[in-house]
Amino acid sequence: MRIDILTLFPGMFEGPLTESIIDRARGKGHLDLHFHDLRTFGLGRYHQVDDAPYGGGAGMVMRADVIVKAIETVLGEGNKGNKRKKRTKGKPWRIYLSPRGERLTQAGVEKLAKHEWLLLLCGHYEGIDQRVIDGGWIDEEISIGDYVLTGGEIPAMVLIDAVARQIPGVLGKDESALEESFSAALGRKKEYPHYTRPEEFRGLPVPAVLLSGHHKEIEKWRKANVRA
Ligand code: SAM
Repeated sequence: MRIDILTLFPGMFEGPLTESIIDRARGKGHLDLHFHDLRTFGLGRYHQVDDAPYGGGAGMVMRADVIVKAIETVLGEGNKGNKRKKRTKGKPWRIYLSPRGERLTQAGVEKLAKHEWLLLLCGHYEGIDQRVIDGGWIDEEISIGDYVLTGGEIPAMVLIDAVARQIPGVLGKDESALEESFSAALGRKKEYPHYTRPEEFRGLPVPAVLLSGHHKEIEKWRKANVRA
C-alpha cells in the first residue's frame, strides 16, 4: 500500500514509523510512505500556508489554495510512479484527520486497508479552510477520538499503524491480527487476558485451565473472558 502524508511537520514522523514492525513493513515494500512538507507549497517569500479566519477569532486557518496545490501535485506524482514501484493506479482515498470526522474503529481500519493508495492530510492551528472538503478534494474525515490534539500528525501515525497491521505479510505469526480486540473473530469485543512464565508471580497463579493442555477447555475459557 502507498500512503502519501501531507504535513507541516514531517520530522514528527521519525521514530514511530522508523522502528519495529512498521519499519520492517517499509523495508519489505508492504508499506510505501511518502511525506510531503506543505510548507513547500506555501505562498510568497515566506511560504505562507495559513491566514487569519474570516469572521475573526483566535488562531490561523490553513489555506485552501496551498492544500489543493499539494493534493493535486501528489496525485500527479503517484500516477507517474517512483523508483521502487510501478505507478500507483487510479486515485488515492483522500482522508483529512479531523476531530469533526467519523470516529476510527477497527472495522473502519479493515476497510481502509483494502485501498491500494491513501492520502492523509494533517491539519494544524485552527484546521483547514472548509472549501477543501466542500470542493471534493477530500473523500473522508476521520477522527481518532473525542478530544483535540495540536495537529493531525499523531492521528495520521495512529491510522497508519492500525492500517499497516491489516496488510497481509506485515505481521509475523507471533503478531497475528486475526483474533484480537475488536476483530470480527471476537465479535468486535475486547480480547481475553494473556499470561506467560513464570506459572506463579508474587502469589498470583496463571489460571489452571491454561496449563491443562485441554484445547477445548482453553478455548471455552478464552471465549468466557472476552469483554464487551
Ligand atoms: N479547531 C478545531 C476544532 O475545534 O475541531 C481543532 C483543530 S486542531 C487544534 C488542529 C488539527 O489537529 C486539526 O486540523 C486536525 O488535523 C488535527 N486533530 C486534532 N484533534 C484530532 C482528532 N481527535 N482526530 C483527528 N485529527 C485531529
